[in-house]
Amino acid sequence: MSRIDTAVESGSVKLLRFAPSGRRLWIVVGRDSEYWTDPELGFCSCKDFYFSSLTKGEPCYHLKSVHKAMLDDKFVAFEFSDDEYTAFLQALAQDSASQLLR
Ligand SMILES: [Zn+2]
Repeated sequence: MSRIDTAVESGSVKLLRFAPSGRRLWIVVGRDSEYWTDPELGFCSCKDFYFSSLTKGEPCYHLKSVHKAMLDDKFVAFEFSDDEYTAFLQALAQDSASQLLR
């Protein structure tokens, strides 16, 4: 099995849905961190994305995993209220910043 299949099969792809707005955040659990991935924007918060996806145009492993999880309908969905959305974004932004500065 490929790394992507393994990630999808093991439930590493998480969808956070916020109600009532219907906003979504896709998270892929990696080896030592969680990555914020946006398949619609083609964005991911991992290092690979900054260092190779942006220059080569090749989606990173997290983006590929989310695409596969969407196709196979194999992701773990969580429901939250809109009140929590900002806190999630802040936590993700902080995580991403610390990843890149490491
Ligand atoms: Zn990534």
